[in-house]
Amino acid sequence: MYQKVKGFRDIYGLEARYWNKVEKVFRQTFRTFNFEEFYLPILEKSEVFNRGIGSTTDIVEKEMFAFEDRDGTQVALRPEGTASLVRAYVENKLFSTPGISKYYYVGPMFRRERPQKGRFRQFTQAGIEVFGSGGPSIDADVIYLLYKLAENLGIQNFVSMEINSIGCPACRPAYNEKLIEYFKSNIEHLCGDCLRRLDKNPMRIMDCKNESCKKITADAPKAVDYLCGECRDHFDGVKSYLDALQVPYKVNPMMVRGLDYYVRTAFEMITDRLGSQSAVGAGGRYDGLIQLLGGPDTAGIGFAVGIDRLVSLCMLNETEKENDLDVFIISFRDISDKIALKLANEMRSQGVSVDMDYDFRKMKKQFSLADRYGSLFTVVLGEDEAAKGTAAVKDMQAGTQEEIEIAKVTEYITDKLRRN
Ligand code: ATP
Ligand code: MG
Repeated sequence: MYQKVKGFRDIYGLEARYWNKVEKVFRQTFRTFNFEEFYLPILEKSEVFNRGIGSTTDIVEKEMFAFEDRDGTQVALRPEGTASLVRAYVENKLFSTPGISKYYYVGPMFRRERPQKGRFRQFTQAGIEVFGSGGPSIDADVIYLLYKLAENLGIQNFVSMEINSIGCPACRPAYNEKLIEYFKSNIEHLCGDCLRRLDKNPMRIMDCKNESCKKITADAPKAVDYLCGECRDHFDGVKSYLDALQVPYKVNPMMVRGLDYYVRTAFEMITDRLGSQSAVGAGGRYDGLIQLLGGPDTAGIGFAVGIDRLVSLCMLNETEKENDLDVFIISFRDISDKIALKLANEMRSQGVSVDMDYDFRKMKKQFSLADRYGSLFTVVLGEDEAAKGTAAVKDMQAGTQEEIEIAKVTEYITDKLRRN
């Protein structure tokens, strides 16, 4: 017997049903905000991520599935979507389209982290990116969209929104200096990774998961206290638009996010319902990234949501049933088998979900199958009915039964389903 690769998983049954629902709600919600779907490759040249995410980040330093292809090209399974989408935006010269561009993607991401509950090596993200708008109103609308996703899934009570501003290339250096000064005076508490990052990228230390580092970051200088005038105005703008939209949020001055490309607005949707994995979705503004990857100086903002964790949250609500089939047809070999096949497909073409027993077993066996599928209606095509050209239609919830002409069964069922 073979076993799957560590950190990878199979998704099926009830979880797959919720998964389906989440993706459907996501796509509908993204469309209402005028986002267009973007299908990205799963494999990219490693350089896209090394440059795009930052070479001192956890993702690039230790989590990428990167390897040399047979022709010597360094490639990596994508650990996130933003760098890929920016690469595609630049490569396909989509920046030449006037106005702003809004894209979304849904798909698997790969990070070689320590597997645990809610943390896998292949997981799925849905994300959005907006290119070409630098003002605070789009930041607020993007954060609102993240909140709206939770609301449309009925889990808004399980999550909360945190926002922060982490400055820009103009004010970041002064903040970095303060951080270096602070951490140098607490140097004995830093882990090996953070010691290495101290001079190159001190803000990364703020995102370290090491307990001893976490303790000293609690009292570290905060980026919001060192913002330049423009960043402060931007942040005030974001907050006032969020207030206008009535999005519940909290400013968390300690949040810096784990990717190098963020400037100004950073945000995270968190939950306390999933144990230690609290991040459900996160994002921020990344105005320098498009230029960094070879494009023109274009503003950008986006977020990514972890579908695996969102599905777990939705499952706490228990709204989906184990299965729900509209109709199960009970039929018998040489008596009503062909009628059943025809009727099943006639109903399916009307959007009704239908199944039947292709082995035409005994009535009792077929009824138990209908039961297992949780069918709302059972259509029995027995010997008597076949002779009369009728079917016995049972409403499984009401427990009632009616005899209907076969030619009218589809109409009868679709009518009943509409009313339910
Ligand atoms: P975390 O703090 O949990 O490591 P992150 O900051 O690395 O999260 P992002 O890179 O912002 O996460 O990705 C956005 C979302 O993707 C996260 O909020 C989370 O829901 C999900 N996610 C990230 N890594 C994993 C993983 N290994 N397994 C499952 N979901 C993940
Ligand atoms: Mg992480």
